Amino acid sequence: MDIAVFSTQSYDRRFLDAAAAGHHTLHYIEARLTPDTAVLARGAKAVCVFVNDQVDESVLGQFKSLGIGLVVLRAAGYNNVDLAAAKAQGIALGRVPAYSPEAVAEHAVALILSLDRNIHRAYARVREGNFALEGLLGFNLHGRTVGIVGTGRIGTSMARIMTGFGCKVLAHDIQPNPLCAEIGVSYVPLAQLLGASDIVTLHCPLTPQTQHLIDAAAIAKMKHGAMLINTSRGPILDTKAAVSAIKSGALGHLGLDVYEAEGALFFDDKSDDVIRDDVFERLLTFPNVLVTGHQAFFTEDAMTAIAATTIANIDAFAKNGKPMHEVS
Ligand code: NAD
Repeated sequence: MDIAVFSTQSYDRRFLDAAAAGHHTLHYIEARLTPDTAVLARGAKAVCVFVNDQVDESVLGQFKSLGIGLVVLRAAGYNNVDLAAAKAQGIALGRVPAYSPEAVAEHAVALILSLDRNIHRAYARVREGNFALEGLLGFNLHGRTVGIVGTGRIGTSMARIMTGFGCKVLAHDIQPNPLCAEIGVSYVPLAQLLGASDIVTLHCPLTPQTQHLIDAAAIAKMKHGAMLINTSRGPILDTKAAVSAIKSGALGHLGLDVYEAEGALFFDDKSDDVIRDDVFERLLTFPNVLVTGHQAFFTEDAMTAIAATTIANIDAFAKNGKPMHEVS
């Protein structure tokens, strides 16, 4: 099959080419998918997209008229897809439900440890010959309480890791997971989790219910000076409320791998540009805020698994008209 791959980076080519092994013709497009770039998929029978590609009604309408029958996400989350429009146009959707939950959970842990022990600041200090410890004081994870919001694949991996550190783990989920209960995680209402946790880490998907789940009112319920980690999706956190909370000291640390308006920033080199997003720029001024550019998934293991499942979705669609992991 001919497949148009949007938002292509060099690493996408490397892993997708290896997985496709010449069985499909992949047309790599650097542009992000928007209503203006959808036409670049002309000639393809399927389209492969990433997290900030805009799979909306207009794009899906164009795909239908181009004869495209399948959109595959090389991601787990599909909040960027208009599911009703895809159904109306008869376009099948595939995703990669579980490629490596450990990749994301381990990145969340990297943010926690870096913020706690000020690794990001120590790195810069030592390179400057500054060996003073003032300002680098951390806290033991052992014995602390970690609150996990969303205990699916990633949240459960996170629960296992934090239990290993000797943390007490609380969780909140609309569908509690027996695997978590088995390892000693206690399910509590969100307000209780927020009030009792030293670290709150978000692992639920972005849905209308979770949009700004953590806003000023939710932060007000958290322990004063607690740490908040978001490796899930940017809009789950009200960033302006988080900035105010960092300024007041209500939040003691903030670790983000995702950001509400990341679509205009992430995955590209903007180092020669003037970044006009004042909220984002304000985040970068705080010593107790650490931002990474949506890289939690980015391990050799996860990229290999994402590419393999993406090609398996395409193979299954070519064979029987349905991707292996259908979103419906
Ligand atoms: P999953 O579907 O296995 O688990 C999600 C869990 O969230 C489920 O248990 C679900 O019941 C729960 N949930 C849904 N709505 C909720 C709500 N309102 N309150 C509390 N819990 C709720 O998904 P996963 O594989 O663990 O991934 C979780 C999210 O992580 C994805 O949706 C995606 O947005 C994000 N993600 C980020 C990266 C990254 O690189 N930063 C990579 C992969 C996934």
